[in-house]
Amino acid sequence: MSVSVNGYIKSTNGSTKLSTNFSVSEFACNDGSEAVFVAPALVTILQKIRTNFGTAVTITSAYRTPTYNTKVGGVSNSQHVLGTAADIVVSGVTPATVAAYAETLLPNTGGIGIYSSFTHVDVRETKSRWNG
Ligand SMILES: [Zn+2]
Repeated sequence: MSVSVNGYIKSTNGSTKLSTNFSVSEFACNDGSEAVFVAPALVTILQKIRTNFGTAVTITSAYRTPTYNTKVGGVSNSQHVLGTAADIVVSGVTPATVAAYAETLLPNTGGIGIYSSFTHVDVRETKSRWNG
């Protein structure tokens, strides 16, 4: 078993909608690279979060190339490199509140990390929880 991930090219598919409120470009690596990898299961979770809170969800970091992940100090096996993770800011909602809702969506799987200014959510098959 592994988590399904789709690949896109930012300049070609950047405006492609993955769900009601999310497009491919929002998941692109912050280093400006063209390849974008996104797990559909991650999009589903983010859209549920967006719909639940009814306010803007900003993805601050989703897919990371291995090089960029190293540059920003990510762990080597980061879910961001797999295309299965996103760091998000929900306008007007605390990271802990976002995490509590994400918990209802991922009761037995996935990664949820609470940081001071954002929430990390990933759709790994195992369960992981932490405070950053
Ligand atoms: Zn993260």
